[in-house]
Amino acid sequence: MNLRPRPEWGTMSWPPTHYGRSVLGLPLEVWRPRGSCKLLIFAAIHGEEPETTYALSRALRQLPEAPSHCAVVLAANPDGLIRGTRGNARGVDLNRNFPSKDWQSEPVTHRSTIEDRSDILLSTGESPASEPETRALLALIRELEPRAVVALHAPLACIDDVNDSALGRRLAQRTSMPLVRDVGYPTPGSFGSWGSDNGVPVVTYEFPLAATEVLMREHVPVLVELILQPDV
Ligand SMILES: [Zn+2]
Repeated sequence: MNLRPRPEWGTMSWPPTHYGRSVLGLPLEVWRPRGSCKLLIFAAIHGEEPETTYALSRALRQLPEAPSHCAVVLAANPDGLIRGTRGNARGVDLNRNFPSKDWQSEPVTHRSTIEDRSDILLSTGESPASEPETRALLALIRELEPRAVVALHAPLACIDDVNDSALGRRLAQRTSMPLVRDVGYPTPGSFGSWGSDNGVPVVTYEFPLAATEVLMREHVPVLVELILQPDV
């Protein structure tokens, strides 16, 4: 597939469909493939990681038509994205709200910046999958039945793949970032934990800490290749 000429990169070439609504009522949008879904890529399940949305959007806008086999969600947590919060509008860290075996009800902490203590509290939800954004993403995966899911995060600069899959190794090689089996701390109720429990291969692609323009230069081409050739 030839990419669109640069003057056309300002818009999407095909429309999304809605797979649900956020707590604040925003549409949850998915750009679907033309054929069967081999890969789902989603960004911004943490609302204060907007660089993941920018990069994935810029990749999507280079395509002249829907790709054959890759579905794209630009904002899994749109309320967090517009409010600049890690959690959703109810203060729930959606990436600790998935119905994995290790989901737990205690509040979780996160860092304000990468040098800070992890001491900022968020809820994991009243129960597993208590949040509409979580339930909608699970329903989308049940419907699309992707062979693998890539979750975009920042800024840990690694490819986290508990399965050490060909997809994870490919992304690590392509980005020159380390391939790791976990991010170094427990993540109960994370999307990755849910995937492990349910036989859905999940690769977490953690952007490095870098200026937005540097991230765009280095990671948008990787995402374009991934969307066009999921190879999973
Ligand atoms: Zn994150």
